[in-house]
Amino acid sequence: MKYVSTRGGDQRISSAEAIKKGIADNGGLFVPEYIPRLSTDGIIALAPLPYAERAAAILSLFLDDYDKEKLLCFCRDAYKESSFPGGAAPVTELYENGYMLELFHGPTCAFKDMALQIMPRLLSEALKMTGEEKTAFILVATSGDTGKAALEGYRDVDGVKIKVFYPSDGVSDIQKLQMSSQEGANVSVQAINGNFDDCQNGVKKIFSDKELNEKLYEAGYILTSANSINWGRLAPQIVYYISAYLDLYNAGKIQKGEKITFCVPTGNFGNILAGFIAAKMGLPVNRFICASNKNNVLTDFFATGVYDRNREFFKTVSPSMDILISSNLERLLYFFAGPEKTRGYMASLNETGKYAVDADTLSAICEYFDAGYTDEEGTASRIKAAWRESGRLIDTHTAVALDCAKRLGKPGEKIVTVSTASAYKFAADVTAALGGEVKYDRGTLSPLYSLSELTKTEIPAPLAALAAKKIRFSGTVEKEEMPETLFGD
Ligand SMILES: *Cc1c(COP(=O)(O)O)cnc(C)c1O
Repeated sequence: MKYVSTRGGDQRISSAEAIKKGIADNGGLFVPEYIPRLSTDGIIALAPLPYAERAAAILSLFLDDYDKEKLLCFCRDAYKESSFPGGAAPVTELYENGYMLELFHGPTCAFKDMALQIMPRLLSEALKMTGEEKTAFILVATSGDTGKAALEGYRDVDGVKIKVFYPSDGVSDIQKLQMSSQEGANVSVQAINGNFDDCQNGVKKIFSDKELNEKLYEAGYILTSANSINWGRLAPQIVYYISAYLDLYNAGKIQKGEKITFCVPTGNFGNILAGFIAAKMGLPVNRFICASNKNNVLTDFFATGVYDRNREFFKTVSPSMDILISSNLERLLYFFAGPEKTRGYMASLNETGKYAVDADTLSAICEYFDAGYTDEEGTASRIKAAWRESGRLIDTHTAVALDCAKRLGKPGEKIVTVSTASAYKFAADVTAALGGEVKYDRGTLSPLYSLSELTKTEIPAPLAALAAKKIRFSGTVEKEEMPETLFGD
């Protein structure tokens, strides 16, 4: 199977090359030339298998240039019990016909682990398959979650080195501690005196600096990124939608072929797009509900066909969804409108900050998608209600999705709400939503202890372990100094 650009052109490459390159030469995103189909029987045949084997079977359809046995090894290693205690993507029952797909049992307690635990293995193999002799140097600008998940995923992976930049005052204390205590021989972390945009722009500058890239090349490195537009991050996310269906089938909650709905807390549109691809493969899905917070640019898009980022930006308690440009939406446009129109939409987005799809395209998209949003108050009251009514502790992002599922769900509709983070990752806001108080008497980790005491639940092991970690990376540099730090360690 070959991969092509969402913006057309004649670049046509293998999956290994697409994963190594990240982005197409014309600025588009890589998509498979066709979506492989699975019959309902073919899907149900995966039901007896553990998660890693389901993952290998599904990934091998998209990554058909990779050796099948190797893919299976990568999956087994990525989703092993010690990384995902209790299973990689368990489905639990929340209320009648309401289920939760729990994607937060990985090493950093957020759903990005689902992709970032396996993608480094795919990249490392892609370097071998394409005869690359240089070390891949991964640069990440992060406002919190992605940085830690990438560091955890890439630590001590062959042929790869990773550096994460974060704004010194733009991440939570717990996130700072998570990153600055990161272990691994091939990792480094650098705080920048500035905000997230300064970090992001600094990284973009490094990528486009020809002279610097040549110097790095001579030193043995090629630069690459780990962000969510890389196909190697998207493909592994297809798996858990199919796996959730199989788990519901195994538990006798659905019949073979019965359609279900997924409600997904959405930011960059990567997670929900992976679900859509699963549906295109043949997974019986009713619809996808795209859940947003107050930054509801996607809700408006699905309602009107107009995507307009020219609007106020809100900082919310669900920061991973505080996004005005949802990059992966470009792939959806490609599937519904084709490469020529997609190229036009993206040019318009670049020039004016907005674009409008035609009525036919919008109505075709709406056969699969619905959308809604939940504001800050709604988020807090949903956290409280889930705790009171079901005894379930949910994080702020999950709360947005659960609130949309409850409001937009139809009688009898079976809905799986996708849960993207442990409540402990956002402990201060969850504690506040439950009416508790954070007492900052135990340092940086105070919110964790406060939430645990309030709810009598246990702090997840990877977060509890932070108390004993040593700081490895300290100090802050100016954004102009970012390039120099690449040659340090
Ligand atoms: C990244 C993230 C999201 C958004 O996922 P997208 O793939 O960007 O739509 C939602 N919730 C959490 C906790 C996240 O970390």
